[in-house]
Amino acid sequence: MRMSCGLTYRSMKSRWITKLSRPCSHGPMGLFVPPSPPLDPKKVKELQRFITLSKKLLVMTGAGISTESGIPDYRSEKVGLYARTDRRPIQHVDFVRSAPIRQRYWARNFVGWPQFSAHQPNPAHWALSNWEKRGKLHWLVTQNVDALHTKAGNQRLTELHGCMHRVLCLNCGEQTPRGLLQERFQDLNPSWSAEAQGVAPDGDVFLSEEQVQTFQVPSCVRCGGPLKPDVVFFGDTVNPDKVDFVHRRVREADSLLVVGSSLQVYSGYRFILTAREKKLPIAILNIGPTRSDDLACLKLNSRCGELLPLIVPH
Ligand SMILES: [Zn+2]
Repeated sequence: MRMSCGLTYRSMKSRWITKLSRPCSHGPMGLFVPPSPPLDPKKVKELQRFITLSKKLLVMTGAGISTESGIPDYRSEKVGLYARTDRRPIQHVDFVRSAPIRQRYWARNFVGWPQFSAHQPNPAHWALSNWEKRGKLHWLVTQNVDALHTKAGNQRLTELHGCMHRVLCLNCGEQTPRGLLQERFQDLNPSWSAEAQGVAPDGDVFLSEEQVQTFQVPSCVRCGGPLKPDVVFFGDTVNPDKVDFVHRRVREADSLLVVGSSLQVYSGYRFILTAREKKLPIAILNIGPTRSDDLACLKLNSRCGELLPLIVPH
């Protein structure tokens, strides 16, 4: 089974051409979604009952909801990046302290951006958007940085770890759209070209050192400071105000549904602990075990995009 899609990006007279150099033979879903048993009608009914009984539902999503949109996760057995490759996410402290590391990060992110930013919501994202429109969703918290909930139209949403579609100046805090930065990259690197093999959950790709060293990285237009995606890298902490905000939403809720997260990262897991303190019923939809299976009244090992659209949000 082919595990990644090859992409070729070449600069030609300031025009960028993107093409699939090795077409995906299985489509995005088959590549990154772990195998799961067929849908169990009894479990579907149980989830329907859980949702129907909930009047203030809080949903927390993780990487597992986006694998069906073609974005790999890190932790899934066999299909996650940790299992398939030696790739590991960048550490916050390395990014902040080292200009060469930032150069490498941005060069790779620049190459991966056209594909990463083109990902679209899948039926699970659309289902949650519909739940919000129907008044079924008290709040949605996502650990993902891919903007797919926003693309699907969700507004009652907290992006716990930020969003790759925004850029932050480390010096003055100015926020700018990531799309604008892509244009600045292109202007500064008109003859630079690279080939990328596979894109990670944060838009990262592989490049050689030689390719990286010739890549020009722009700085903040306002103050000249270094730029960083507006996301929480590993080793950094989520803004305390944002954490407090989500804790309040959890305390207001009457039930909690986890979608596509193994809850291994504490920044999301802590809200499960708050829900447990409040004795909220917890349901978990995730292929494979999670850190909180023993706290859940309902556990479903199904594809998010197959199951959630079956649930009627009344
Ligand atoms: Zn600045």
